[in-house]
Amino acid sequence: MAYLGNAQNTIEVLKKYGFTFQKKFGQNFLIDEHVLDRIVEEAGVTKDSLVLEIGPGIGTLTQYLCEAAREVVAVEIDKHLIPILEDTLSEYDNVTVINEDILKVDIAALAREKNAGKPIKVVANLPYYITTPIIMGLFESGVPLESITVMVQKEVADRMQEGPGSKDYGALSLAVQYYSKPEIVARVPMNCFMPRPNVDSAVIRLKKYEKPPVQVNDEKTMWRIIRAVFNQRRKTMVNSVSGAADLSFSKEKIAAVLDEMGEIPTVRGESFDLAKFAEFTNRITR
Ligand code: SAM
Repeated sequence: MAYLGNAQNTIEVLKKYGFTFQKKFGQNFLIDEHVLDRIVEEAGVTKDSLVLEIGPGIGTLTQYLCEAAREVVAVEIDKHLIPILEDTLSEYDNVTVINEDILKVDIAALAREKNAGKPIKVVANLPYYITTPIIMGLFESGVPLESITVMVQKEVADRMQEGPGSKDYGALSLAVQYYSKPEIVARVPMNCFMPRPNVDSAVIRLKKYEKPPVQVNDEKTMWRIIRAVFNQRRKTMVNSVSGAADLSFSKEKIAAVLDEMGEIPTVRGESFDLAKFAEFTNRITR
């Protein structure tokens, strides 16, 4: 089986199996060898690595991963792709394909079984309709993780890197920056995919921190505060936090904490960075 990383070989495989793309699964397959090489290189995949690939499609990136990694586990939701993957990956004995929805897979169990519980690498050209739940699920479920290197929509990659002052800054930026150091490692134009999506893409590497960069005593409350702020980003911090259904801080208490922090009473939460949200939480829950 030839490498799939070009349009001609991809079309051949699609024809051979009479495969039709399913929009609902975010199926846009990579057809550019340079981009594929770059993803594997930026992910730092070596013969020591256990790689989890989300959504192998017809196995394009999977082939590159199998060449570089010790072992690859690829989780694909679309059952029509499974016989194709058996064919395109038949040369590799270091890959396991699981036909399942990634959001239902016990990834921590997988890391225990395949990698003795040591941190794994996640590498994928993600289905864009579930980028956020996939990434948040990986961080919040406590899966032992080294890094996540993924193709995402360009705007989403930007959002993950942003700080206060940008319209793209929000709860996703803060969550990603709490758990990892994000770095956009490649910009990828629409013509590198088949079918061609109508948005530009980027590869982002999220290197997981061993310890978050800020110390917060009550994480759950901090995320509630952050959600309250960005659900109503034009409101003042006093109004958004006091009005949150899952929090019970009075306007007076919030104003007092803001005063302790040297903030003006009408400050908006969207101007806070992660360190300030952590400080605010630590003070208000003390
Ligand atoms: N890795 C291939 C490539 O780069 O050419 C395909 C990438 S394509 C953008 C996304 C893949 O994720 C598709 O194969 C799609 O069927 C699969 N997918 C979509 N939702 C999924 C889910 N919930 N769990 C696992 N795979 C999923």
